[in-house]
Amino acid sequence: MYKVRKGTLFLPNLSPMLPVNTTFASFMIIIRSSEALLTHIQKLRKEGCTIGFIPTMGALHPGHLSLVENAQKQNDIVIASIFVNPTQFNDPKDFKLYPRTTEQDIYLLENTGCDVLFLPSVNDIYPAGTTQLPHYELGYPETILEGKYRPGHFQGVCQVVDRLMTLVTPERLYLGQKDYQQCMVLKKLLLLIDSPAQIEICPTFREADGLAMSSRNVRLSSRERSLATGIFKALTLISQKLQPGSLAAIKEEAFHLLDEHQFRPDYIEIADAATLQLLTEWDGKKKIIAMIAAFMGEVRLIDNMILPLNFANYAN
Ligand code: AMP
Repeated sequence: MYKVRKGTLFLPNLSPMLPVNTTFASFMIIIRSSEALLTHIQKLRKEGCTIGFIPTMGALHPGHLSLVENAQKQNDIVIASIFVNPTQFNDPKDFKLYPRTTEQDIYLLENTGCDVLFLPSVNDIYPAGTTQLPHYELGYPETILEGKYRPGHFQGVCQVVDRLMTLVTPERLYLGQKDYQQCMVLKKLLLLIDSPAQIEICPTFREADGLAMSSRNVRLSSRERSLATGIFKALTLISQKLQPGSLAAIKEEAFHLLDEHQFRPDYIEIADAATLQLLTEWDGKKKIIAMIAAFMGEVRLIDNMILPLNFANYAN
C-alpha cells in the first residue's frame, strides 16, 4: 500500500515513465469485517493519523456526503460506515422497506474522497446476538419526541454507535442536525461510554424547495413528494411568526399548514435547543428549536429549525 496522502501515490523509483510523485484520483478501501477494520485502525494509529467518522445507514445523498466533506477538513482519514441497524427500527415494515443502494453508495463515497468504508455484517456489530443488548440510561431525551413516538429507537441507535465507536475510535464523530435529538442522545452516550471523541453537528442539506434530504424521500410518490415541502413551510412559518410570549397560536397555524399538505403529524414542538425542554412560551432570548415529525402517506419524515434565525442555523 503506497497511500501517503489522499489522492497521491508515492511510487518507488521503479517506473521511469512516471514522475516520482504522481497524483491519482483518490481511492477508497472497503472493509467488510470488524477484525480487518481493527487491523487497519492499528496501522493508521501507528502512522499518527487522526480519524473522522460518519456512521450511516446508506442510501446516501448529498447531506451524507457533506458530513464526509466536513470530516475531510479536520482529520487525516475519513471513515464512513453503512449498516442498516435492525435494533433501531421500532417498525419492522420500515426496516424492510429502508432503501439499500450499496453499489451507488460506494461510488458516491469514493468520488467524495472518503478513505475507508466499513460495511459490517449483523454479526460484526452484534457478535453476541441481538437478544441481550446493553441498555443505556439516557434520561429525559429518551422520553420525549422521537423517544416517545419510537419506543426503543434510541437504545438501538446507542447500541450500534457504541459498537462502532469501540471499533473505529475516531477523534471526531460527524452527525447531521436533521436528527437533532439523536445528536443530543449521542452526546450523552459518549459520556456514558467515556469516549473522548468530539461530536461535530453539520447543517441540514435541503432540496431546492426546502425538503430536508433523507434516504426515505425516495419512497414518496411524485404527488407525495410535492406535498412533502409542507414540513419546511411549517418550520418557515414558525420562524416568521415567532414572537416572545405564548407559542400556542403559531403551533396551531403550523398544524393547519401540515394538514393542508395532507401530513399526519406525530408532533410539532418547540423546545429549548440546549436541553430539549418543551416550551409553551418563549422569552425572546433563548436559542430554541422547532421540531416536526409527520407521516406523508406511509413515510415518516422529520425536520427541525433552530430559532430565532439570527442564531446561525447550526447546532454545535
Ligand atoms: P442516516 O443514514 O439517515 O442514519 O444518517 C446518517 C447521518 O447523516 C446522520 O448523522 C444524519 O443526521 C445525517 N444526515 C441525514 N440527512 C441529512 C441531511 N439532509 N443533511 C445533513 N446530514 C444529514
